[in-house]
Amino acid sequence: MRRLENIVCSFCGSLCDDIVLEIEGNTISKVRGGCAISRSKFLSPIDNEVPLVDGKEVDFSEALDAAVEILAKARHPLIYGLSSAGSEAQAAAVKLGETLGASIDSTSSVCHGPGTVAKQLVGLSTCTLGEVKNRADVVVFWGCNPVEAHPRHFSRYSVQAKGLNTEGGRRDRRIIVADVRRTATAKAADIFLQVEPNGDFQVLTALRAVLSGNELRGDTFGGISRDEILNTSSVLQDAEYGVFFFGMGLTMTRGTHYNVQQALSLVHDLNEKTAFTVIPMRGHGNVAGAETVLTWQTGYPFGINFSRGYPRYGPGEFTVTDLLCREEVDAALVVASDPAATLPARAGEYLGKIPTIVIDPNYSATAKFARVFLPSAPIGVAASGTAYRMDQVPLPLKKVIDSKYPTDCDILLAIDKGVVECFAYKVALSMTH
Ligand code: SF4
Repeated sequence: MRRLENIVCSFCGSLCDDIVLEIEGNTISKVRGGCAISRSKFLSPIDNEVPLVDGKEVDFSEALDAAVEILAKARHPLIYGLSSAGSEAQAAAVKLGETLGASIDSTSSVCHGPGTVAKQLVGLSTCTLGEVKNRADVVVFWGCNPVEAHPRHFSRYSVQAKGLNTEGGRRDRRIIVADVRRTATAKAADIFLQVEPNGDFQVLTALRAVLSGNELRGDTFGGISRDEILNTSSVLQDAEYGVFFFGMGLTMTRGTHYNVQQALSLVHDLNEKTAFTVIPMRGHGNVAGAETVLTWQTGYPFGINFSRGYPRYGPGEFTVTDLLCREEVDAALVVASDPAATLPARAGEYLGKIPTIVIDPNYSATAKFARVFLPSAPIGVAASGTAYRMDQVPLPLKKVIDSKYPTDCDILLAIDKGVVECFAYKVALSMTH
């Protein structure tokens, strides 16, 4: 039996790096220190899937050839997903996107993309989760529910975590939660703001107005009473070091990037009076990495198109839902994500009509109707790589057991090589005629 310590769990944006695994032969037999999500993921058997073309089991190389053929023939392919892949695979996907002249987008465009657009507009005063643990005495959770989505966030980083200036843990902190319903996270709050649906912009605007010394006219703002706004505003200003976490309750409700722009501006205003920071509460293990890698490779975080031979940025134009709903792509390569289970029905239906290739360790809902399914080694379990935590800190993911399948990165590089050879052959053929 092998015992491995300080393993990074890559199953949510918290990337807890204190997991202990016990391994017997090529099987993980025990997980210590992780949450229920982590235990179920680490203990899931691997290599249960087989490569498929049109629903029939084939050799891996046959499935790979079929994928190359589809992509080399396509006039405008889409590469999508990437949020549960390692950063090396994300970089390989960009390389392939450039070869193909494809559009490339990550799940960011349907979760925190509006937050990224807001960040581009007003900037982001941010920090690491280590600073939250050691310094934050006021913590805001707006439109996110870490108790259920990031189960160890409270204990490792934010609410109960004991740090240099927060030795008392929970006793040393004021917790503010804003959401449309009383979530499990809201139950832990000192102040709970039950915002009316789509009322976030109004509440944030009222808070900013009070901070800048304006008088509020009216009794309620986005479902929150005047007294609650005044009380919340004074708790925010009294912080010695505050942090504002936000989730999809802010990014994907009416107002989208305007909501986040207002939240980031609120944090900016608070820095006139005290120290305040903001961290997007990213869900998937490496969705922050997808934005980071795409940005350092192309200059843009998501919704990128290579059809002119150079990267163009187009949220609303080159983002997955728009491309699929407008039926503008003629093939799709889905990497480590499940758009059929998460995108609007119309987008999912169109994905079923075009040749789709899925690279994933699991046989997902999208894989069920894909023309080609290529199983891969799960990252952080049977493949090593890098992932970015929600605060943009990169962490190494270890390979702890072996898989009979290649990594996402190797599959993408092999497809790229096949497509380049195909294009070279076509050029040679055209020159001989
Ligand atoms: S909170 Fe997230 S990163 Fe931490 S152990 Fe649970 S699933 Fe893994």
